[in-house]
Amino acid sequence: MFKKIVGLCILILASFALAACTVQKGANHTPQGLKIVTSFYPIYSLVKEISGDKNDIRMIGSRSGIHSYEPSAADIKAIYDADIFIYHSRILESWAGRLNPSLQGSSVKVLEASTKLPLMKVSGFEDIDVNQGIDEAGLYDPHTWLDPVLVGMEAVEIGELLAKSDPGNADYYRKNAADLARNAQKLADTYRLIFSKVSSKTFVTQHTAFSYTAQRFGLKQLGIAGVSEEEPSPRQLAEIKEFVDTYNVQTIFTEKGVSDKLAETVASSTGVDLKVLDPLEADPENNLTYLENLEKVLETLAQELK
Ligand SMILES: [Zn+2]
Repeated sequence: MFKKIVGLCILILASFALAACTVQKGANHTPQGLKIVTSFYPIYSLVKEISGDKNDIRMIGSRSGIHSYEPSAADIKAIYDADIFIYHSRILESWAGRLNPSLQGSSVKVLEASTKLPLMKVSGFEDIDVNQGIDEAGLYDPHTWLDPVLVGMEAVEIGELLAKSDPGNADYYRKNAADLARNAQKLADTYRLIFSKVSSKTFVTQHTAFSYTAQRFGLKQLGIAGVSEEEPSPRQLAEIKEFVDTYNVQTIFTEKGVSDKLAETVASSTGVDLKVLDPLEADPENNLTYLENLEKVLETLAQELK
């Protein structure tokens, strides 16, 4: 008899637990949440933070970076099956700029999240005119996600799209986006002060992804990737060494996952160290927020320049 009562109690408790689980799942996950596909890590991370747990969010260009990324047939299918597809810029994801979901009978909403951001021309292209058959998009630098202030502006754009797409949660999305933008501004303020005190204002990168970072914080970026994909000539090395000596540069920053053969050659000839400065184009695969990862990048740069 005692066993039977205990057994019944366990059964009742189990039923309550199951009911509790079901209620909690319903409370935390909207079954009809939006299906959102994002193009690469910064956009994915911002959308995820603004969405909370209300939507199903997928990132397609996750590991290999974004510049040479081409979507697979499965990626394209996921985009056309989604409610929303969010990418950064047709300058960066040119394949996304060419997508036209209406041709595929899809009603997916597409957001190019950077369209309201003030874009700079790529260094060296400032005076090039678009009237000579040059694609205007190719003249502009897409790397705005490495400037906290521009990250905040993009977050607000994303929040607005989510608010319009899911009016029942509009206040929630707008608040999350505003919080993110405020924290981004705080990060910029903190690092403006830190960078104002560093002794060296110049840094050298293999991947010139940091023009907006440099502009925001009064720094100067010099790229070495443009020197050559092959072995640099002794003359080119001498020019780099002269630059390194002139500006007291001790480090050349390389990107994760990119061959640093060129940078190594330069380093051994000019005596500078190689360090990684992550342009956050591939998923860092950690549990940090976007701004926390961006802060790590700024910290690395600040430590080097102090
Ligand atoms: Zn890049």
